[in-house]
Amino acid sequence: MHVIVAEKNISARRIAQILAGAKKVTEKKEGGVSTYTFGETVTIGLRGHVVEVDFEPGYQNWRSEQSTPRSLIDAKTIKVPTERKIVYLLQKLARQAGRITIATDFDTEGELIGKEAFELIRAANLKVPVDRARFSAITPQEISHAFSHTTELDFALAAAGEARQSIDLMWGASLTRFVSLAARRGGQNILSVGRVQTPTLAMIVDREKEIESFVPETYWQLDLETQKSGEVIEARHTNGRFKDKAVAQQAHDRTKPPLVVTDVKAGTKQDRAPSPFDTTSFIVAAARLGFSAANAMRVAEDLYMNGYISYPRTDNTVYPPSLDLNGILTTIRNTPFKKDVEWVMAHRRDVPTRGKKSSTDHPPIHPTGAANRDMIGDDAFKIYELVLRRFLATLAPDAQWKTLKVLFDAGGEEYTATGGELIEPGWHTVYPFSEAKETVLPPFAAGEKLPINKITLDEKQTQPPARYTQSRLIQRMEELGLGTKSTRHEVIAKLVSRKYVEGNPLHPTLVGRVVTESMEQHADAITKPDMTQTLEAHMQQIKESTRTREDVIKESREMLHAAFDQLEAHEQVIGDDIRNRTAEEMNLGICPVCGDGTLAIKHLRGSTQFIGCSRYPGCTFNIGLPVTQWGWAVRTDEVCKKHQLNFVRLVRKGARPWDIGCPLCHHISSNRESLAGIPSLTTAILEKLEARHIYSTADIVKSPPEWLATALDISHAQAIALIHDAEAEMVLLKKRSECRKFLRSHLIPRKGRSYATILKTLKEAGISDIAGLAHSHGAELKKAGISEQEAEKVIEEAQLLHTLQVFREIGIPGASIKKYHAARILDPEDFCTIHPIILAERSGISLETVYRHADLVCSALKCPVPKKITKLQIEKSRKDLMAVRGITDAMILPLLQAGITDVSALLAADAKNLLESTRIPREKISEFQAAAKRMKDRAIIQI
Ligand SMILES: [Zn+2]
Ligand SMILES: [Zn+2]
Repeated sequence: MHVIVAEKNISARRIAQILAGAKKVTEKKEGGVSTYTFGETVTIGLRGHVVEVDFEPGYQNWRSEQSTPRSLIDAKTIKVPTERKIVYLLQKLARQAGRITIATDFDTEGELIGKEAFELIRAANLKVPVDRARFSAITPQEISHAFSHTTELDFALAAAGEARQSIDLMWGASLTRFVSLAARRGGQNILSVGRVQTPTLAMIVDREKEIESFVPETYWQLDLETQKSGEVIEARHTNGRFKDKAVAQQAHDRTKPPLVVTDVKAGTKQDRAPSPFDTTSFIVAAARLGFSAANAMRVAEDLYMNGYISYPRTDNTVYPPSLDLNGILTTIRNTPFKKDVEWVMAHRRDVPTRGKKSSTDHPPIHPTGAANRDMIGDDAFKIYELVLRRFLATLAPDAQWKTLKVLFDAGGEEYTATGGELIEPGWHTVYPFSEAKETVLPPFAAGEKLPINKITLDEKQTQPPARYTQSRLIQRMEELGLGTKSTRHEVIAKLVSRKYVEGNPLHPTLVGRVVTESMEQHADAITKPDMTQTLEAHMQQIKESTRTREDVIKESREMLHAAFDQLEAHEQVIGDDIRNRTAEEMNLGICPVCGDGTLAIKHLRGSTQFIGCSRYPGCTFNIGLPVTQWGWAVRTDEVCKKHQLNFVRLVRKGARPWDIGCPLCHHISSNRESLAGIPSLTTAILEKLEARHIYSTADIVKSPPEWLATALDISHAQAIALIHDAEAEMVLLKKRSECRKFLRSHLIPRKGRSYATILKTLKEAGISDIAGLAHSHGAELKKAGISEQEAEKVIEEAQLLHTLQVFREIGIPGASIKKYHAARILDPEDFCTIHPIILAERSGISLETVYRHADLVCSALKCPVPKKITKLQIEKSRKDLMAVRGITDAMILPLLQAGITDVSALLAADAKNLLESTRIPREKISEFQAAAKRMKDRAIIQI
């Protein structure tokens, strides 16, 4: 069997289809992984990297004393499978294979992915021959050629990729850990630092600083308007920008008609057709169509894997001689661009254009298959058209412009107008994506006199440098040797996702800026592109086998150790600096209550977060927030128009953010229901309360009555009543919130069963607190979507909790409550109906103690306190009663409880009443009474 390993599932399928020719391809799934079989050949797709480099175990704990951030520099790394099912299937196939061909992408990353597959194969099968197929497009020609000319895996190329992987891990992990720990940030709030990422961020930060420190200069510009043969023509003073207003004004005043043509220079200008697309120029062109860098690459990769365009990661801008340009033209003639293709075929330039960079890996990006909009969808079609038209443009003739420069004189002041006219559109015919702006001037002759319609003297200002757009940044990164064609757009996407930069054009966030500036100050080298450039050079040396991977990694380790020398010496300063400066990102605005402090999001240890005032404890205003499990609270740019506070959002990895909005609006609305529960609170008072920054029931309770009376313009008695009502509402609130917490910890949310709906249904059934739950029935809970089994448990737990609460309120200690619960003594009423002797027996608590408890409970419930019987009395009664024939030990307590303490009492008792209180059958009681009588009679006789 011949096994072919492709980089992705989709390419595995296409390769199988191409190689199978007329044979049928069968898709088979195992553990969710597809294989494609035809004849004796089977193809399998990886998911890019199926293993991941990580530190060996023991480095997971960030706060460990042994594995400090610095220790990560020299930590050993291991490869861990990340796609277990693919790895399993690959090794299974490897055991059965007679030949294996690695057909991953043809570049450093692809070679490394191939090498990883090779290692997995070797671990399963030591002997099977493994070869390598290399291609730049998944088209029938390329694929057939590649598979009939297979070579060896390029271990030097893969080693370069491995070196980059190890170095990136080492830099990223150690620096991120160091900076995050220094700034005391953890979880989703870590501060990431990376080898390419940090210098790139530094470029954006530096540009922002340039813009901020830019001092605009004022200048003046002098233009005039004339006309010829009905056409309006603009001419500008040849001085250009006047720095001095007086000089500009003089020139303006001297400008007098007539406007005399002094010189006419006509010429032509060659407009060269554009060079072929490499990754960077492709991303720049796609940006003009509205694609972000990452998005453009994603679409291009899809097109590549489906055979429509060639491999989109390339630095090459020169078509290799082997590329069949005619063949491509023939292929793409079969697209909606037939007319353009035929135009190019008819007007083909001698040699295609070429750019500055020629490399041997991949050809420039070009179309390889025919597609139309229906086949691939709108977005992909836009990118496909761009690639196709660019290819056509590189084969089309240059364009020709006719240029005209006219010089004028007006009262001794010289003006000029320029025109450009596209006389030979050439490549512009097929490539509309680059603007060709024409300014057509009518013919002029020297000495000609013209009118002056208007003279304008404009005051203008010099502009600061522009912020980087994504595509401009990618160009700049390329110039500086930062990252590779494959990683640049990913680095930018990372900076965005880590909230270091935002917007397009890009500008740094406060955190992005603070981290960069802190690094610039203390470990400059990390923020400079130099080290990364050095590494790129070293990678090249590894590829050419002039240096080993180990050697390069060793050098990188040394560089990083040097950086750590600096960093560790300033750890405290770096940490304080970042913490102090980023505190601002949590500020929401002026505290509405004290009007002086700043409201800010606070994160405490654990999962607590809230909004508090900077003047605490002087101002105690605060707004509660859900715990961090629901999302980490951050500030957004939006500001509440009413309260001038920034909006708050809860962000959680892998989940939609939860927008709280204005924290104060949120606070007010979440307290509305509770306030509505206060009977003495009218709408008018509610408005006044809000104006006085009283937002919640708790706020009312806290307010002194005199203050409240004055603030709300109500009587003292009304104020006291209001506070009293609020207190009662607080008790209810507390109970409701307990109930909510209780249900949260006992029920798992399911589809169609949110806590909110459960609570609502229960409330409708009159159950809104633990007591309600304790006394509820399964049927009521079932309506709320709680199953029978769950209900049983919920009720039982609620009973326990309820007992606990009631007993605790009454003053019974926790240890005793537990014992009562274990004995199923769950209702305080039991203390009034069951005699303490029985309670003591059942619970194992001493009788004395039970009496004390019964005292407490009965007086709390306003029941009569049970009569005390001492142990001694019990023993005496027991002895006395047990003498009666038929009375057993188990009956003593019920009898005692019924007040039967001796034989006389037994004789005097009414058998019917006794049955009710002791549950001893009537006839038995009659028997006992008869026996007792005999006994008594006997005693009398004996006397
Ligand atoms: Zn305040
Ligand atoms: Zn608001």
